[in-house]
Amino acid sequence: MAAVIRLFRPSSSPFSLIRRSLSTAAVTEPVKSQTYPQNHLPPAVDPKGRNVQWVFLGCPGVGKGTYASRLSTLLSVPHIATGDLVREELNSGSNLGKQLADIVNQGKLVSDEIIISLLSKRLEAGEGKGESGFILDGFPRTVRQAEILDEVTNIDLVVNLKLPERVLIEKCLGRRICNQCGKNFNVASINVKGENGSPGISMAPLLPPPQCVSKLITRADDTEDVVKERLRIYNDKSQPVEDFYRGQGKLLEFDLPGGIPVSWPKLLEVLNLDEQDEKQSVAA
Ligand code: AMP
Repeated sequence: MAAVIRLFRPSSSPFSLIRRSLSTAAVTEPVKSQTYPQNHLPPAVDPKGRNVQWVFLGCPGVGKGTYASRLSTLLSVPHIATGDLVREELNSGSNLGKQLADIVNQGKLVSDEIIISLLSKRLEAGEGKGESGFILDGFPRTVRQAEILDEVTNIDLVVNLKLPERVLIEKCLGRRICNQCGKNFNVASINVKGENGSPGISMAPLLPPPQCVSKLITRADDTEDVVKERLRIYNDKSQPVEDFYRGQGKLLEFDLPGGIPVSWPKLLEVLNLDEQDEKQSVAA
């Protein structure tokens, strides 16, 4: 609770908190507004010597975590998912966590002030460990959050992952997490026929290894009603964020063609990250 109250003090506004956390990240010249057709993306590492500062947008269940985490390994930058920060707070049993539980379990958004406070703390902790650059997942989720982020640092690229709504619901309902190792799996076998000129989508289940099978849990907010509410809120509050970055020419739209085996190589291709980079990162 104290953290929330602190945010409303003028000397420690969300702006100053996040600005402090990002102070060593590039507050460099603004990135020129441009669109990113395939093959004209910024290089993975900025010529000025800093690591990438990317944002992943997309509806709940689209796979932001999966692809952001793979890219973070490839590019050696932290993958920071605000949903994970919220769940850590819920699991910590703190007063703030208790206060957030109802909001999250109903599929609603946590206030901008609270989410910025959690993100600032995570960035500060990373700064202490010498982290630089980031791939943000699940932030910003409101135009206000995007504006605050814009005031304190330069985002290089915003990847907007897309899947049809029917697939998103099936994916959320099939999602399982191992409560020991924390890895995400999916038991859904998705086979959605093409409609109105858009192609069909098939995704094989992503099954856990034997040691995780008895430890699988389902997120409390992955029930059908709550997923539908989260999608409604995404369309209402987060889609305007797409427009915000589209207006800045930073939005890369990516329609996922299927599961990881087909989507990952395609994503690397549109990001101009070739297979060689991937092999080096796997070998490292
Ligand atoms: P996620 O794992 O990204 O689906 O996030 C889980 C929940 O955490 C969301 O449904 C929200 O309640 C909360 N949350 C995560 N990120 C944000 C954000 N940027 N703004 C507000 N609430 C958030």
